[in-house]
Amino acid sequence: MPSNIIEKNFRVGRLPHIWCPGCGHGILMHSIARAIEDLKLDKENICIVSGIGCSSRSSGYFDYNTIHTTHGRALSFATGVKLANPKLHVIVITGDGDATAIGGNHLIHSCRRNIDITTIVFNNNIYGMTGGQYSPTTPTDDKATTAPYGNIDKPFDICNLSAAAGATFVARASVYHVNQMIAYTKKAIMHNGFSVVEGVSSCPTYYGRKNKKGSAVDLIKLIKENSMVTNDVNKAIEANKVPIGIFKDIILPEYSEEYRKLVDKF
Ligand code: SF4
Repeated sequence: MPSNIIEKNFRVGRLPHIWCPGCGHGILMHSIARAIEDLKLDKENICIVSGIGCSSRSSGYFDYNTIHTTHGRALSFATGVKLANPKLHVIVITGDGDATAIGGNHLIHSCRRNIDITTIVFNNNIYGMTGGQYSPTTPTDDKATTAPYGNIDKPFDICNLSAAAGATFVARASVYHVNQMIAYTKKAIMHNGFSVVEGVSSCPTYYGRKNKKGSAVDLIKLIKENSMVTNDVNKAIEANKVPIGIFKDIILPEYSEEYRKLVDKF
């Protein structure tokens, strides 16, 4: 019997992973495994679905049911999986570009439907795998390979966007706030409805280098300094910090249950 968290939850034959040294994604992937381990979920009842990007490579490392799909479409596949087998804990792992650009429409409509899928967005503010292009969460004035003089766009706030679109559980943690990342992921998995956990991540290779943020450790320290652990978003905004906390947690009718009720009626 495998004894440690790596052997129990990962396809060890596929490790080491392909991420760059110092990439924050490993911390978030481990947090998800820790949450699943703490919840003592049967791995047969877990399905991880991912799109395309550095974050989405994590589906290949988890030793659960996993599907690595196409760019931006993880939530469409996940919706099909959930409707076909509502007993599964369906978890989507996606990046900021995958979730809010290519898959932006799928994200807002999944939020609106309140289907019981847990979506973990690894947000490193840049497209890593495709070469460092700016994404919908790249901060204004920050540089990217496609914004060498600075980004003039306003970034999306993934938590605000998801809450406004109808997600019923919304939280944010980061690669520095690992205990919160594990705790919020556990709550999100057990939440009966559409849940979004934004995991603020770090990409030293593209985002860090382009913006002269220093080493991988410096980037994580910067995330710590720029954040405030609070469920009160206004308090964080007043302090010019990024809030780390749970911002929405309500219960509303869940989509796959409503769908079954309709099927049973006719
Ligand atoms: Fe991580 Fe960035 Fe490297 Fe992708 S490019 S593996 S996000 S450090």
